[in-house]
Amino acid sequence: MKTQVAIIGAGPAGALLSLILHQRGIESIVIERQSKPYVLDRIRAGVLEWTSVELLESIGLGERLHAEGHRHDQVKIGWGGNEILDIEFQKLAGKPMMAYGQTKVQEDLYAAAERENLNIIFESSDVELHDITTDSPYVTFTTNGETQRVDCDFIAGCDGQHGVSRKAIPDNKRTEFERAYPFGWLGILSETPPLPHLLYANNEKGFALCSERNPMLSRYYVQCSLDDTVDDWSDDRFWTELLARLPESQAELVVTGPSIEKSIAPLRSEVIEPMQYGNLFLAGDAAHIVPPTGAKGLNLAIADVHYLSEAFVARYAGEPAKLAAYSETALKRVWSTVRFSWWMTVLLHRFPGESSFDQRMREEDLAYLTRSESARRSIAEQYVGLDY
Ligand SMILES: Cc1cc2nc3c(=O)[nH]c(=O)nc-3n(C[C@H](O)[C@H](O)[C@H](O)COP(=O)(O)OP(=O)(O)OC[C@H]3O[C@@H](n4cnc5c(N)ncnc54)[C@H](O)[C@@H]3O)c2cc1C
Repeated sequence: MKTQVAIIGAGPAGALLSLILHQRGIESIVIERQSKPYVLDRIRAGVLEWTSVELLESIGLGERLHAEGHRHDQVKIGWGGNEILDIEFQKLAGKPMMAYGQTKVQEDLYAAAERENLNIIFESSDVELHDITTDSPYVTFTTNGETQRVDCDFIAGCDGQHGVSRKAIPDNKRTEFERAYPFGWLGILSETPPLPHLLYANNEKGFALCSERNPMLSRYYVQCSLDDTVDDWSDDRFWTELLARLPESQAELVVTGPSIEKSIAPLRSEVIEPMQYGNLFLAGDAAHIVPPTGAKGLNLAIADVHYLSEAFVARYAGEPAKLAAYSETALKRVWSTVRFSWWMTVLLHRFPGESSFDQRMREEDLAYLTRSESARRSIAEQYVGLDY
């Protein structure tokens, strides 16, 4: 097979890139390791920045997003027992957020891919990248028991943190920056009405988050030990722990019920530099991981795809400069987002071995945010996302 851009991975980054390129007259073939139902079943991110909403609208994916998404003009942070801090996005940063699950974004992307007849090859194994520093790179993989080869001009590595693309950059040309956090998030889905707002909480027991997927589907998280397994967490234990971490006035609003999904995710920050090597370009989790505290992973993948698609369009119009500068351009937003996600994580979690002094310092930061509109504005503009 021959195409202009071979895309590895059909998660949000790969599927979105293929759709935008198609709409701008550039051909691609997407090579995905998993089956389509498997990708659609993954429960992941839930909140979109307004820049992401506008980008999805601009490619014709706004209708369901606005019909089923839930606009949030503010987020609340409960702390120190019964204190509640409001960060008013619309008032302070001029934009809201949109609660709309990654599963729905992925469904919308695959529906558009079918409508526009995009070429996504699912269940492809043994994907390998070849000759990436030459003008004629190619990708090989196995599907239905046969080895296939795609010749292309460029390769976009959108295959997430465990993919093959980042490893195709030689060790001596790649720098990895990493911070692993000493705790995880235990998340549950329950078919109960969510709180009317997003609520983060920190207290002596640690972090909690109340979020939503739709009017009858709630997503809740509590900070847990990295040694825990989901079997250690009965539903009763989960709800008891969650409610104990929320201010009383908020705990009273939570409707509990049986969980329909329960999982533990470790928290990590990671950046790979550069995001380009020869004719290979990394986007999304293939290039960086952020802890979910700032709700940024999916949004950052969408931002990379914005920069990369613009760069490919310019390149095929005879202007190579944007593509040459892709890594530098994308990394500016990446590092600013990595810093914000790290900062939110430190602000809202209890770290093992910390003293009560450390917790008082954290609470003083939250008290300052409560008093200072300027400090809240700083969080608001980073949370809703800076303009591209
Ligand atoms: C458990 C979990 C919970 C999360 N929760 C949140 C959250 O609450 N908020 C938030 O903002 N972010 C969250 N994230 C992060 C967010 O989901 C990711 O940032 C987002 O999925 C990135 O999209 P992507 O397309 O870059 O990568 P992915 O979604 O990982 O997609 C990569 C694709 O590449 C495919 N692939 C991998 N290897 C290969 C290969 N060798 N060959 C071919 N294909 C391959 C994979 O199957 C996958 O479909 C979470 C992530 C995880 C794992």
